[in-house]
This record gives sequence, C-alpha cells and structure tokens, in this order.
Amino acid sequence: MSDLLERLRARGWRLTSQRRVVAEVLDGDHVHLTADEVHARAADRLPEISRATVYNTLGELVTLGEVLEVATDGRAKRYDPNAHHPHQHLVCSACGTIRDVHPDRDPLAALPAAERFGFAVATAEVTYRGLCPDCA
Ligand SMILES: [Zn+2]
Ligand SMILES: [Zn+2]
Repeated sequence: MSDLLERLRARGWRLTSQRRVVAEVLDGDHVHLTADEVHARAADRLPEISRATVYNTLGELVTLGEVLEVATDGRAKRYDPNAHHPHQHLVCSACGTIRDVHPDRDPLAALPAAERFGFAVATAEVTYRGLCPDCA
C-alpha cells in the first residue's frame, strides 16, 4: 500500500471530508489515475465534490511531494501516490495501463560520468513500453 492517508495524517494535513476522499481514491498500489478519473471515483463517495476541488487537492498533494505527476506522452497526466519508493513505469502502448516496476540497476547510476557533460544529474526516469497481456 502507498499509505498515503497515514502519511498525510502524520504531516498534519488538514483532512476535510473532500480531501480525505481524494486521498482515499489515490491510496493503493499501482494507482495512476487521471484527474478526471480521480474526480469520478471521488464523486461516487461524495457526490457534491467539484472538479475544481479535486484539481486543487491534487495540486497540493503534488506540491507536498506526497503524490507524483506521471506524464505518459500524448495522454492526460496521471497521479501516483507511490511517491517515496523510487520506481519506474511499464506502460501498455495500446490501453495505457501503467505498472510500477523496479529495474535491477538504478537508471541514474547507469549513466556514465562521460555521458553527463558536466551536469549535476539529479533524477532519471525510464519508461518501458509494450503491450500488456490483455492487449498482446
Ligand atoms: Zn494493454
Ligand atoms: Zn508509479
């Protein structure tokens, strides 16, 4: 589990019912929802929740560093609660399903000094693409 709710409680984030529902929708493993999907699921539990509230709450969670924004090209940004365990993504080119994966080698360490051109390289993202079992 991503234990997002526990992390937010530990940080003293004010959990209104609306914020709680957004955090509950995002909690879990391999969660990579678009803002619209978060809104739809949140509205199942709390019908009065507005799209603006969901978007604002997502923005705050990203600013807090508790949720990651994942950009998979050409598609809407997705929100990932697995913010404290370094991982990469495996993406289905057909249906867009995303899994969290852990390569054997740290992709940051895999870039030799000679290929860094003097940059102080801070992060690396690797996206593995292909067809998931349902689309293959
Ligand atoms: Zn697929
Ligand atoms: Zn992820």
